[in-house]
Amino acid sequence: KKWVYLFKEGEASKKALLGGKGANLAEMTNIGLPVPYGFTVTTEACAEFYNQGEKLSDEIKAQVDECMKVIEEQSGKKFGDINDPLLVSVRSGAAISMPGMMDTILNLGLNDDSVIGLATKTENERFAYDSYRRFIQMFSDVVLSVPKYLFENVLDDAKEENGYESDTELTTEDLKKIVDEYKAIYKKEVRKAFPQDPKEQLEMAINAVFSSWNNARAITYRNIHNLSHSMGTAVNVQSMVFGNMGDDSGTGVAFSRNPATGENKLFGEFLMNAQGEDVVAGIRTPKTIDELGDIMPEVYAQFKEITENLEKHYKDMQDIEFTIEKGKLFILQTRNGKRTADAALRAAVEMVGEGLITKNEALLRIEPSSLDQLLHPTFDETTMVEAEALTKGLPASPGAASGKVYFTAHEAVAAVGKGEAVILVRKETSPEDIEGMNVANGILTARGGMTSHAAVVARGMGKCCVAGCDEVRVNEEAKEFTIKGEKFVEGDTISLDGSTGKVYKGSIKTVEPNLSGNFAQLMEWADETRTLKVRTNADTPVDSETAVRFGAEGIGLCRTEHMFFDEERIPEVRKMILSETVEQRKEALEKILPMQKADFKGIYKVMKERPVTVRLLDPPLHEFLPQEEADIKALSDDMNVSIEKMKEVINSLHEFNPMLGHRGCRLAITYPEIAVMQTRAIIEAAIEVNAEEGVCIKPEIMIPLAGMKTELEYLKGIVENTVEDVIAEKDGKLEYLVGTMIEIPRAAVTADEIAEVSEFFSFGTNDLTQMGFGFSRDDAGKFIGEYIDKEILPRDPFQSIDQAGIGKLVEIGVNLGRKTRNDLKIGVCGEHGGDPESIDFFYRAGLDYVSCSPYRVPIARLAAAQAVL
Ligand code: ADP
Ligand code: MG
Ligand code: MG
Repeated sequence: KKWVYLFKEGEASKKALLGGKGANLAEMTNIGLPVPYGFTVTTEACAEFYNQGEKLSDEIKAQVDECMKVIEEQSGKKFGDINDPLLVSVRSGAAISMPGMMDTILNLGLNDDSVIGLATKTENERFAYDSYRRFIQMFSDVVLSVPKYLFENVLDDAKEENGYESDTELTTEDLKKIVDEYKAIYKKEVRKAFPQDPKEQLEMAINAVFSSWNNARAITYRNIHNLSHSMGTAVNVQSMVFGNMGDDSGTGVAFSRNPATGENKLFGEFLMNAQGEDVVAGIRTPKTIDELGDIMPEVYAQFKEITENLEKHYKDMQDIEFTIEKGKLFILQTRNGKRTADAALRAAVEMVGEGLITKNEALLRIEPSSLDQLLHPTFDETTMVEAEALTKGLPASPGAASGKVYFTAHEAVAAVGKGEAVILVRKETSPEDIEGMNVANGILTARGGMTSHAAVVARGMGKCCVAGCDEVRVNEEAKEFTIKGEKFVEGDTISLDGSTGKVYKGSIKTVEPNLSGNFAQLMEWADETRTLKVRTNADTPVDSETAVRFGAEGIGLCRTEHMFFDEERIPEVRKMILSETVEQRKEALEKILPMQKADFKGIYKVMKERPVTVRLLDPPLHEFLPQEEADIKALSDDMNVSIEKMKEVINSLHEFNPMLGHRGCRLAITYPEIAVMQTRAIIEAAIEVNAEEGVCIKPEIMIPLAGMKTELEYLKGIVENTVEDVIAEKDGKLEYLVGTMIEIPRAAVTADEIAEVSEFFSFGTNDLTQMGFGFSRDDAGKFIGEYIDKEILPRDPFQSIDQAGIGKLVEIGVNLGRKTRNDLKIGVCGEHGGDPESIDFFYRAGLDYVSCSPYRVPIARLAAAQAVL
């Protein structure tokens, strides 16, 4: 079996076998770039190494020997030679770039003899001994975990004794002494002499790379990023070139385009007379790559041409390592450059213009969720340099915001009224905080996860939110919080970065997003490609407007209950809920009707011809009732009942399992008056807006939480009668649809029956997941993390749909539904509608549209295009 590949035997497509670094070194060798000779020990050899109980098999060792001989011939040097030694680097490289793996060892092959050879050959004894002492330190640290400080102490002592300021003042004699001391340290720590045989050095180094695949850092990294533990790493052995041979040598790193902005201009840094990672280590301040043009114009020109060719070859922005040895250029690594979302967008769009890639390739190149970063304000980068984070919570909703802290919704609203910028700080938020969240620039909570109320609502609002920030101790009563002992009171200014979860003291300048230009271009391409429609979940004209601006093609979910929490309306809503007779309830509903109608009119006016799906009241009623003593008292006064009586009624509405309780269509079945009022509001508003604006709104009335056809039959009757009444009263005309949400498993598996009554379906995948798994959405956070850690679940099913289970319910629902009504319009609303992986699934399942919060609309548009490609 072939375990080892010379660079000239490999190619870029063999990343799984040769690792990313090795595959690209091979590719560059084959297209004729100046790459130092070398070979790659494969990831399969890594697996074999573990099969053999962490040992290299004889076969692998023999193949390594053979390849070493080839490099010796190619370079005309010999490993361990006393006259002109071949030195190599040993570099790890897995298929997916992974920090935490073993560091690279440079200058391997030096020993007491070859160091003399190196000195003679280069006529630079100091350089030779400096390389040797670096090698001993690197090898000891990396291969045998001898603590670095032991070596650093020796170096510091030497400098102190001689009164030197910097390493460069060390003389050859000093370095020779240091090498002896280093070898002594090695001997003491390892209880063996420093290996003098280059072959032994090489074998130990290769072993160490393979072992590092399973060090704690690497395992943790793979766990966090969901990477397989069985891939293994490859090892690259490559002949050394020296950037530290004098002032005609150097080393650097460059990107073929600017990785921060995407600008098509070489971007990078280098250092003259330096080796390996001196550039990133920050020992000296590097020069910009442009300056290389002044120092070595010919090398610069050659390098520029190579970077351009590499980009053309890989059709992507490259991140390139290079070294110049005595005026000769060598390329040591290339890979697709990591870039910001901004840069990714600009580069992709411009590359299409340059004819480098196709529109489809550009669409596939952008990670849909990364668009999120482009839709929100961000902190000004120059100001960020000085900012120091106080603490970090969960990056619950992206964006950047500064403002004065307030602790209640009420005070937040008042402060905004006075023209202040506000950050709402709460232990956790509840529906009562909606208004405060709505006016605040950002939201900070001490508790709750990525799907907590604060996180979900903030994302929906496109508002910056940092949630579950443990170190923030909130005392809502005293109106203060502390972070690591530091106290903040009402009115103090802080800043939040919802994309990183960081919290800062004071205010930081923000920059507004730009949605035209490249962004608009990419979105246009996405729209040309996709077939899945994208709607939005919006409850207000403002949200609707935002969503339309982001390209929403309709509203897939308008939650009427959000309209009920408004400070002015909630008293009437409460009266309606607490009514003892139908008459009382109708009276209260009478007052709510004009408000609801006005809301719908506002939304219709924004949406115009675009479809609007309105869901009838869904949550359990007790969510609307007051909790605080003072509020209860106020309400009982207002309704003219005793406070005891009021508490009794409130208690009677309490449920043990509200999410499985008296909610959804069950409310309308027991209180049909509510459905009548809502239908009236929806229809009256539509008729009026059609007349006023000359549009043709066709409302879609959606009944939530149905599990049975009979529930729908009953309610559809009520809705249709109401619509007929209204149409007759108004002497108007109107087309409309009555449909249902499929969110109860029973509904999914009886979708053929349901479709006899329902004119459209919308999958409520949040509830469908909750009920399909039997996981409470509000409490599952407590154990889902562990399910994922223990690989019982691959990911949070509330974030990305569980395709095998809940997804199957969706497929069954689609198939059965369309059996009854072959043109049944089917969509999905809920968090999954904005998740790229779920969108791909919904496309395959044959849905007509997805609906997501306004700020996820562009993400869904791109993901829907990618689903087709
Ligand atoms: P990493 O994956 O951490 O970047 P690398 O294997 O790329 O590690 O190497 C670390 C540094 O050593 C880089 O600056 C690289 O250019 C340099 N280097 C690696 N191999 C050689 C070599 N054969 N000659 C000169 N420099 C090398
Ligand atoms: Mg590198
Ligand atoms: Mg639901």
